[in-house]
Amino acid sequence: MSESQKEESGYSDFIREAVAKDLKEGRYKEVHTRFPPEPNGWIHIGHAKAIYVDFEVAASFGGKCNLRFDDTNPEKEDMSYVEAIKRDVKWLGYDWEDREFYASDYYETLYELARKLIRKGLAYVDDLDEEQIKEYRGTNVPDKNNITYTPPGKNSPYRDRSVEENLDLFARMRAGEFPDGSKTLRAKIDMAHPNLLMRDPVMYRIRREPHYRTGTQWCIYPMYDFQHPLSDAIEGITHSLCSLEYEIHRPLYEWFVSNCEVFPSRQIEFARLNLTHTVLSKRWLIQLVREGMVSGWDDPRMPTIAGMRRRGYSPEAIRDFLGRIGIAKTDSMVDIQLLEHCIREDLNKKASRYMAVLNPVKLIIDNWSEDKIELLDAVNNPERPEAGSRKIPFSKVIYIESEDFREVPPPKYYRLFPGNQVRLRYGYVITCTGFEKDPETGRTIAVHAEYDPDTRGGDAKDNRKVKGTIHWVSAESAIPFEARLYDYLFEPERPMDVAPGHSFMENLSEHSLEVVPKAFGEPAIADVPVGETVQFERIGYFCKDPDSTRDSAVFNRTVGLRDTWAKIEKKNS
Ligand code: ATP
Ligand code: MG
Repeated sequence: MSESQKEESGYSDFIREAVAKDLKEGRYKEVHTRFPPEPNGWIHIGHAKAIYVDFEVAASFGGKCNLRFDDTNPEKEDMSYVEAIKRDVKWLGYDWEDREFYASDYYETLYELARKLIRKGLAYVDDLDEEQIKEYRGTNVPDKNNITYTPPGKNSPYRDRSVEENLDLFARMRAGEFPDGSKTLRAKIDMAHPNLLMRDPVMYRIRREPHYRTGTQWCIYPMYDFQHPLSDAIEGITHSLCSLEYEIHRPLYEWFVSNCEVFPSRQIEFARLNLTHTVLSKRWLIQLVREGMVSGWDDPRMPTIAGMRRRGYSPEAIRDFLGRIGIAKTDSMVDIQLLEHCIREDLNKKASRYMAVLNPVKLIIDNWSEDKIELLDAVNNPERPEAGSRKIPFSKVIYIESEDFREVPPPKYYRLFPGNQVRLRYGYVITCTGFEKDPETGRTIAVHAEYDPDTRGGDAKDNRKVKGTIHWVSAESAIPFEARLYDYLFEPERPMDVAPGHSFMENLSEHSLEVVPKAFGEPAIADVPVGETVQFERIGYFCKDPDSTRDSAVFNRTVGLRDTWAKIEKKNS
């Protein structure tokens, strides 16, 4: 939609426009949506988009949104997933109130609706097995001009059973008289329909597998295409919003609604979220978890909501991102740097600043007396003056980042090298006077400097222009911690693009996690609560991990400070 069209309609996207039209024309009196996860894994940022669309569209019209577990695959579902999904939807900031529903609660109603279709001559029990059903259905084939052509399928020899026989067989399927896979209930639509999904789709299958909620009560389970529209109807869902891959299912959705004569829910599809350097499907994510490629569903490299939370992303930043990408009708690939840009913008406002050194080398201030400790004032958050300030101890021996010293400086290097001056953040200007090397490895093991007493941060008397400022941590009070530095889980932008016979797993990056076992932070980092994200000045944003104990903290790098997206935006504007 162009900007001017947007203004005309007053709605920011095509879904809200369609919903508004439905209300205006009296098709529905109110708006009621649902988010329908299958409890077979933890939800990811793609689901967050669906949650955002479902809840926000309803809210725009003063409507409601249900949380419904679409739980009709007993093999894969589990209560632990239900709990994880509820926790994550809530964390994202959405409230379904008392409207928590389960498709498995509708089994009896669905069974009755299936009998209704049988009675109307619109469903039959079939004895063909899975392979035969596929074969009779037919497939799309390219013709000699390479245009897809779908030759008609073949009717099943059991298609014309009488209503009585079908009702009897269906009841016996439920009663457990037939082995798994030996019979199905199918809708009687059209075996020559150009849409393969309309060629007598299976409504029920026999499966002796205990279900996490209904136990062994049922040995027949409804298929998604039958169950979903009817669950929507049972709940009085007006707008059943779903991702684009369901577009081809819509005629079937409408067929079940109209032939079962139930509440006429309307399905509207929107583009899936795809993100670069990521895979967004529970099927792939579960494989990463099972094969131990990540530490679990909440590994901070995972695109799951739990992973992002542990990484240090906030719900506000995720919602900001979802708002910016908008709701469109065509699938596209979103650059993960836009998400990171939203995370940085949010954290820049919120995160308290601290000093920490990841790759320490000792710096000795030779003209500072041995036992003297001075407390320097540091601002907690320059974006929020009300966050106040704190005291940081300064002493003779401090740690600095080893890359902030060079024996021989490259061009335009304004940090420490023999003879050069830098300002220590919040502290004094120092001059590098020398360094010590390990004779065996050649590595610098200590840097020497002298400080100028007239240059203390904030009250420098000589207004000296010093080009570089470096961060530091006083050695005598430094808190050691483990830093986990994360990078993209997958090397290529589109990890699913693989040659035939290859797996996306081959695209896993070898640099997605670097552990720094002993970094040092200023004393105040000991008080940072688990789950809080802070900024380590000049390094990046870090979130304290639940693996932290009282004596040893772990910080996850949320995101670095350099915003490549802001640069791209600037260039394009
Ligand atoms: P997955 O492929 O990750 O298993 P799914 O569609 O099988 O996803 P469901 O639990 O059935 O998982 O999805 C619940 C809802 O989330 C559906 O309405 C689906 O359309 C939506 N959804 C899933 N993935 C995305 C995505 N990447 N972008 C937008 N919506 C999505
Ligand atoms: Mg699904």
